[in-house]
This record gives sequence, structure tokens and C-alpha cells, in this order.
Amino acid sequence: MVTTLAVFTRDLRVHDNPMLAAAAHQAESVVPLFVRDTGTRRTLFGSGNRERFLTESLADLDHSLRGLGGRLVVREGDPVEQVCRLADEVGAARVHIAADASAYAQRRQTALRTALAERGRELRCHDEVHVVVAPGRVTPADRDHFAVFSPYHRRWEDTSWRRLVPPPERIRLPKVDPGRLASANADRGTGKSGGFAGGEAEGRQRAELWLRQDVEGYDDRRDLLAEEDGTSRLSPYLHLGCLSVRELATQAGRSDGARAFVRQLAWRDFYYQLLAARPDAAHDDYRPDRSGARDWRDDPEALEAWRTGHTGIPIVDAGMRQLLTDGWLPNRTRLITASLLTKTLGLDWRAGAAHYLEHLVDGDLANNNLNWQWVAGTGTDTRPGRVLNPLRQAERYDPDGTYVRRHVPELAHLKTPEIHQPWRLPAGERRALDYPAPLPSLAAGPRPLRL
Ligand SMILES: Cc1cc2nc3c(=O)[nH]c(=O)nc-3n(C[C@H](O)[C@H](O)[C@H](O)COP(=O)(O)OP(=O)(O)OC[C@H]3O[C@@H](n4cnc5c(N)ncnc54)[C@H](O)[C@@H]3O)c2cc1C
Repeated sequence: MVTTLAVFTRDLRVHDNPMLAAAAHQAESVVPLFVRDTGTRRTLFGSGNRERFLTESLADLDHSLRGLGGRLVVREGDPVEQVCRLADEVGAARVHIAADASAYAQRRQTALRTALAERGRELRCHDEVHVVVAPGRVTPADRDHFAVFSPYHRRWEDTSWRRLVPPPERIRLPKVDPGRLASANADRGTGKSGGFAGGEAEGRQRAELWLRQDVEGYDDRRDLLAEEDGTSRLSPYLHLGCLSVRELATQAGRSDGARAFVRQLAWRDFYYQLLAARPDAAHDDYRPDRSGARDWRDDPEALEAWRTGHTGIPIVDAGMRQLLTDGWLPNRTRLITASLLTKTLGLDWRAGAAHYLEHLVDGDLANNNLNWQWVAGTGTDTRPGRVLNPLRQAERYDPDGTYVRRHVPELAHLKTPEIHQPWRLPAGERRALDYPAPLPSLAAGPRPLRL
């Protein structure tokens, strides 16, 4: 009997999963496998919020696979070792896996290919599982990746997309120990919910509702911080592949809102193609500054105030507190808080990116670190000098203070415009607030904030 291994990584779904479909199509029996990678779990990638979301998503995947006649087989340890061991055990000639962009994933793929080849087995990598258009499929004439989004986006729209694939009709599992679905450390970390329940079933339900009810208004509402459903909130599901980005891009429709939404999905692909070509950009400046003018300040107190939401700038503190309570925050406050850290306070983007990755339920190396670089001016922004003034951003995107009121309760009783600038209150009222004055170091960075 021909047996294959379908190795899930962050493609935890049965719908439109070319990796699973190919494994099921090419063999009489399939082992759907997930390896809890002890190496990544020791790093930020095992952070509490994502760990909980992952555990729920694995349970949901197991449920779906059971519906097809199989189940999820789980192992814990080094993925290369575990995959090889199981391939030997069930006699699988071929192993299927989704290609991924980070340096770690690329090394894992190479090591797996070599180790399997030594055993006379073959690795099949599927490169359009996490993305709509595979890294390297569209390139400019003179290099291996696009460094500017607009020309990338034009090519991305014009290129053909792979066909959608249905879930396998049936999964036949050989005799194998299924392992433990919940890890010994499944309850590790705080695992904040932020209203996100993991899994493909939940992701598909949310996507269906979003596309039916809200996507049309996306372009007008996406930056309005008072709106809790102005954006899709699908990023955690896309990060772990509970949803197929390819399927979502096709289903979105043609309204202005839908087109703006699909453009954001292209940003996601854009960063993957960049990280795949330049894996070092996860930690090194994408555009190094050879003049030496870019000197990050060392200011532990300001960094801590930023992390905990006590900078004294309400819109920034609201975002940073939402990150701590929900494990998520809207794109607009990601931009505002990241700009304040890097441009106004002059602190290194890596410190901000690491804090985000520790808490975000959608924390994703490509999208997080390359967006941080974009904001910090070290990445792909064609206007790297731009600075977001948090007071103007607050007036524009939270005009009546609803967002600040939601996340900074000690200011909730204030009216606008004071809620965004409490330092302007009469001295007596200001002293009565249990809220800090703006950090003095806001004036020490390269772009002082005038209050
Ligand atoms: C400093 C900073 C850090 C970020 N870190 C992450 C991260 O760790 N993980 C993450 O998924 N996104 C990250 N983003 C991008 C963006 O903020 C989130 O994808 C978005 O806020 C998620 O909410 P949503 O699903 O409602 O997005 P929607 O507005 O509904 O967009 C739909 C999808 O498009 C993609 N998308 C949207 N905007 C971007 C963008 N600027 N770059 C790349 N993809 C995008 C996401 O997959 C998102 O789910 C970051 C942005 C900034 C400025």
C-alpha cells in the first residue's frame, strides 16, 4: 500500500490546502502529521496567545480530519527527526509540506529534504499554501524580489492564480500511534482570548460573515478606531492557515471595499516574497544606513512606559494596553505606536517588534518585522522619513475618543479634545487623574513631539 505523510505546519485546514490534497491524491493511505516544534516553542514563537490559538486550531483540524475518516497524528520534538522517524515507521516514500519564507523554515526544509533523501524518501514542497502568489513567481527585471509595493501589486493582480482545491474526499490512515493532541504545555502562558477562538471552522464562519456583511464598507471604515468590526480581524486565522488566503482573495468580490481588502492581502504576500529572498530582514535593517546617522537611543524607562501603556499619550497607551489585554490591535494603532517608539522616541524597532511578537495572537515574522521596518524607515517605505503625529492621528481616527475610553478607563470620563490631550486640563483636574504626564523623553528623540 502506498503511504504518504502530510506534514502540517501553519496550514491548519482541510479546505483549499494543496499540500493535503496532493498527499491524499497520490497515496492509498495518508498520515496527517503535526510536529509540536520544541525549538520554536522555546523562543517567542511559543508565546501564550498563539499557543492557545494553535491548540484550538489543532483540535479543530483533528475534528475535520476525523470527519474524512482520518485523524491528526501529533508528535513533539525536532520536526526533521520526528518526520523521518514516522516516515520510516509507516514506510512513506513521499512527504508533503508547505514551503515557508523564514530562515528557520527554509533551513528546516533543506534539512528535511536531505534527511529524507538519505533514507530513499522524497520531500514535496508546495509553495502556494500560505500565500496567493509564491515568492519569486513575480520579480522585477533586475532582482529576485520586489522592494516597492505598488509595482509588486500590479504584477500580483495580473498574474494567474492557482486553482482552488477541495478537501480530500477521504483520508485513510495506516496503523499508527496518534500521539497526544494537547501538549503537556498547552496551558503555557496567559492565552488571552481577545475574542479569537482558533480553528478552521471558526475562521470560515468569520470570513463568511465578513464577506457577506462588512467588506463593502472596508475602505471607509478600516482606520476608524471606534469601529470594532471596521476590519476583518482574520489575521490570526491567516497566520496559522486556518483560512486559505487564496480562497479569501477570490471570494472577496469586486466592490471598492473588496478591492481594498484584497490589496491588503497582497501586502501580506509582498512581505513574504521579501522575507523569502532576504531572511536576514527579520532582524537586520533591510536598508542599512551606511552614514551612521541612524543611532537608536537607549532608554529603558521610555521603552517600559511604551510597553505597558504609560507614555502619557492616550492614543498610544490605548493601543499598547489593548495589545496586553486582547493580544491584538488594529493596524492604525500598530502604525501610531510603532511610529512613536521608533521615530519620536528614537528606540530600536527590534525592541518593539519583539514585544509585539510576544503578545500578538496574529504575530507573524514577515508581517510583523517587515511592517516594523516600514514604520521605522529601515524597510520598504518609499518615504522613510515620515513620522505620524499621534495627536493628529487621534483627532482623525478617534475623533470622539471612543477608542481611548475603551482601553484607558482612567480617562473615560473626559470629553474631547481633552481625552486626547489630558495635559491641557486645568492643573487641579490634571492632578486628580490617575494617569501619567507625557514622558519627558518624547522631546529627547530625533523627532520631538510638540505638545
Ligand atoms: C508595526 C506593525 C506590526 C504588524 N504585525 C503584524 C503581525 O504580526 N501579523 C499580521 O498578520 N499583521 C501584522 N501587521 C499588519 C496589519 O496591521 C494586520 O495584518 C492587521 O491589522 C490585522 O487585522 P485584520 O485581520 O482585521 O486586517 P484587515 O485590514 O482586515 O486586512 C486583511 C488581511 O490583510 C493582511 N494585511 C493587512 N494589512 C497588512 C499589512 N500592513 N501588512 C501585511 N499584511 C496585511 C492581513 O493578513 C490581514 O488579516 C502589522 C502592522 C504594523 C504596522
